[in-house]
Amino acid sequence: MLQTNRTKQRKKRHIALLLCICFVVVPLFAEIFIVIHADHACIGNGCHRCEQIHDALILLEKMGTVIVYAFVAIMGLRVILLPIKYIFIDIIFSNLIILKIRMNN
Ligand SMILES: [Zn+2]
Repeated sequence: MLQTNRTKQRKKRHIALLLCICFVVVPLFAEIFIVIHADHACIGNGCHRCEQIHDALILLEKMGTVIVYAFVAIMGLRVILLPIKYIFIDIIFSNLIILKIRMNN
């Protein structure tokens, strides 16, 4: 089945939106779980609810780390690639020959 370019872009947008929703909803549910089960009837050592709360805390910590690293990586790439892009556009694609400027001297 042949997909048009527009269909592919739409699919990419849907996947990106789904990922964004996951990055918002998963920590939110983890927080809600921790708040709801914070004052459970703990049986002490080996309590399954405490293990689940601990897992939720680890999930929150790791997702926070991933978000920070992704943000730093994206901003770093932008800082590196933006000057390179302008240099290439100015030097390579903006010379007199490409702009078709005639020098009469
Ligand atoms: Zn417990």
